[in-house]
Amino acid sequence: MNEFDLAIKGKFVVSFFHGVIENGVVGIKGNRIERVFREGEIEYDAKETIGGDDFIVMPGLVNAHTHAAMIAFRGLADDLPLFDWLQNYIWPAEAKFVDKKFIRTSLPIAAAEMLSTGTTTYADMYFFERDAAEVISQIGMRAVLAEGVINFPTPTASNWKKQLDYVREFIKDWLGHELVKPSIGPHAPYTTTPEILEKSRELAEKHNIPIQIHVAETQKEVEEIKEKYGDTPVRYLNSIGFLSELVVAAHSVWLDDEEIGIFADKHVGIASCPQSNAKLASGVAPHTKYIEKEAVLALGTDGDASNNSLDMFQEMKFMALVCKVHTMEPTSCPAEEVLKSATLRGARALGYHDLGDIREGYLADLVTVRINTPHGTPVYNPISHIVYAAKGTDITHVVVNGKLLYDGEFKTIDIERSFAEFNKIVRKIKDKFSR
Ligand SMILES: [Zn+2]
Repeated sequence: MNEFDLAIKGKFVVSFFHGVIENGVVGIKGNRIERVFREGEIEYDAKETIGGDDFIVMPGLVNAHTHAAMIAFRGLADDLPLFDWLQNYIWPAEAKFVDKKFIRTSLPIAAAEMLSTGTTTYADMYFFERDAAEVISQIGMRAVLAEGVINFPTPTASNWKKQLDYVREFIKDWLGHELVKPSIGPHAPYTTTPEILEKSRELAEKHNIPIQIHVAETQKEVEEIKEKYGDTPVRYLNSIGFLSELVVAAHSVWLDDEEIGIFADKHVGIASCPQSNAKLASGVAPHTKYIEKEAVLALGTDGDASNNSLDMFQEMKFMALVCKVHTMEPTSCPAEEVLKSATLRGARALGYHDLGDIREGYLADLVTVRINTPHGTPVYNPISHIVYAAKGTDITHVVVNGKLLYDGEFKTIDIERSFAEFNKIVRKIKDKFSR
């Protein structure tokens, strides 16, 4: 008799390794997947069983690029160009409002948004990430948290050297934690210097942790870097020896074929954020070329201030559609590639080699999607159903590291108290920015 701590049943279990299993069961012991099988195939006993015929069981989604605490700035300033949006709204708002309390107050709401729409791991680049680490580890989500390092003062520290010192302390205290990975976030080539990038790379290599950076988000950035360093962002980063499998390059919209090859050869993680890129009219990333080259193409939402949602289901559908219309080729970015970007390849980009699939030995991060709804039925192909028909709100159960964190109710977030605190901050932001 097989004994599991938790069994999750589905009309379909979506696994890349096993393929889709009809009437499947996932047996979990501790924080790992112990066995994946068809109902009736083995005898088993489980302390707890969830799911059933009305559900698809799938790997938890990996949001490979966001700024979670920016949830408090959702909708603050829409329909503006990137630099106007940053310089006239976001940066002033951050300077005035972002402190430790802001992070601690915003994150439970962001975590609730992510969990309730099926995201189990997220990669963050923001400030006071030590506080974020405490909040998120208590909630029980998986997170790769990059403290922002930039060539001007941040809410965390007054200059890049002090920002790096902060990262060193963060690494010292959190490296090896079972849910939180400390990471380093040199903001972008245009907001840093070769020295900042070099120091960031050294630190990341020393501890084998991810480096998160925005790369080639806009054409304006490409022109600026060309003028300053004589070459495009990716060639510039390559020339200073910055690129490796530790790097997670957010956006990566404006790359030529040679640069796409460089990213693929160096196994750079690419955190594409197609909705943010579309909303800010930055462009469309060359998804099909990344996929052809077998690059580590992951998917992210970017922050709530530029998306305005952390729902990865919306992001998956948009990625598939914008990719097709961009190439004028309906076969490009098929659903399975999109789902891989949102799960397995996202995990790979963030340095996990035992996450993002439903497979024996992998970390037990899984979610269930309700399909007994008018918009959720019928299901001919569960993978295309997930990408084209399902919604974040179809999520019914969320398991991270073997623990049930959400079943319609948040198990580890006091949601009413969290909203009360969050709304106080929102009121202050509204007072300042009411136009
Ligand atoms: Zn970003």
